[in-house]
Amino acid sequence: MTPFTYAKPESVAQAVRSGAGHQSDAKSSALDFFAGGTDMVQLMQERVRNPEHVVDITGLPQLDRIEVGEQSTRLGALVRMSDAASHPHIVEVFPVVAEALLASASPQVRNLATLGGNLLQRTRCGYFRDVVTPCNKRIPGSGCPAIDGQNRGLAILGTSQRCIATYAGDFANALMVLDASVLIAGSAGLRTVALADLHRQPGDTPHLETHLQPGELIVAIELPHLAVGLRSHYLKVRDRTSFAFALASVAVGLDMASDGTVRDARIAVGGVATTPWRLPRVEQALRGHKLDAELCRAASALASADAVPHGQNAFKVTLLERVVARGLEETGGLA
Ligand SMILES: Cc1cc2nc3c(=O)[nH]c(=O)nc-3n(C[C@H](O)[C@H](O)[C@H](O)COP(=O)(O)OP(=O)(O)OC[C@H]3O[C@@H](n4cnc5c(N)ncnc54)[C@H](O)[C@@H]3O)c2cc1C
Ligand code: SF4
Repeated sequence: MTPFTYAKPESVAQAVRSGAGHQSDAKSSALDFFAGGTDMVQLMQERVRNPEHVVDITGLPQLDRIEVGEQSTRLGALVRMSDAASHPHIVEVFPVVAEALLASASPQVRNLATLGGNLLQRTRCGYFRDVVTPCNKRIPGSGCPAIDGQNRGLAILGTSQRCIATYAGDFANALMVLDASVLIAGSAGLRTVALADLHRQPGDTPHLETHLQPGELIVAIELPHLAVGLRSHYLKVRDRTSFAFALASVAVGLDMASDGTVRDARIAVGGVATTPWRLPRVEQALRGHKLDAELCRAASALASADAVPHGQNAFKVTLLERVVARGLEETGGLA
């Protein structure tokens, strides 16, 4: 680890002030917030991240609360993954969130890791985490060995000529089907960003992964109480049944009439894309129709319409379609 300065602010305003003036650029990470530390400490130990200044946010008051309102629920950024996954209101009103969290990491990691940190975890692309290899995300302009190299776990959706790294998280995929938004504190005050607009596709600047400004702090995640939340589900396919990142996963939310007609459908996939990824074409193919196995299959065939495979990860095209079909069947009570 390289030496760094350390601050432990006692308020959100202090945390934002403490971060101000430490501007990261493409090659160095001048500032990092420390929440659970389960991702960033590993990256610091491996010298992938070398922050000059670490702001420990674990003492910030009220950010570890889950507040249930009439129209929405607010999850503080410091809520532990395990606490959110077992919260009775989350389990009942947003099962897809509880299931996505329980399908993530291990109990030990979930007991430490926070929801805000989970959203901002870095990719698991092996080249990114190995400082002796080139990587456009780590060192802009150095190249992307994954495109013609080890890319079995990498993305087929939202990729660019510069980067095909997968967004590794599960929680954000669940949030996508719930129209969640993120409350952000910065030097200009508070702002709200739709979760769908938080992450950036790699394009020509894969080192820029979110639309957060340097020094901005995620304060909370807001979940509106939507009908699709009540009938929602997360299905994750991986190399082993626990403690592994997704090869492909799907978050599904359905609002169905009593005769089985789909009034609304929200679908997001993980493990296959560079950001949390909605499937509007699949959703549109479902709306207004009675859900049965044939419709699930036909709609899920649209999931891979924009897929660009890269050799080793070509199997994900079929896997994606099958995971979406299975996720729809399970959510709709057909499987
Ligand atoms: C072995 C292992 C297996 C895993 N498997 C999975 C898995 O299957 N699915 C999955 O989804 N995840 C998985 N993870 C990732 C894990 O969920 C994340 O490491 C964790 O959620 C990060 O949360 P944290 O609080 O520890 O964040 P930290 O490590 O403290 O921070 C992560 C990043 O977010 C920034 N940050 C943290 N909080 C804030 C905030 N409030 N505002 C702004 N920036 C912030 C930090 O500066 C840092 O850059 C795994 C991790 C490990 C170690
Ligand atoms: S896929 Fe992205 S993260 Fe992986 S080596 Fe290429 S540029 Fe780096």
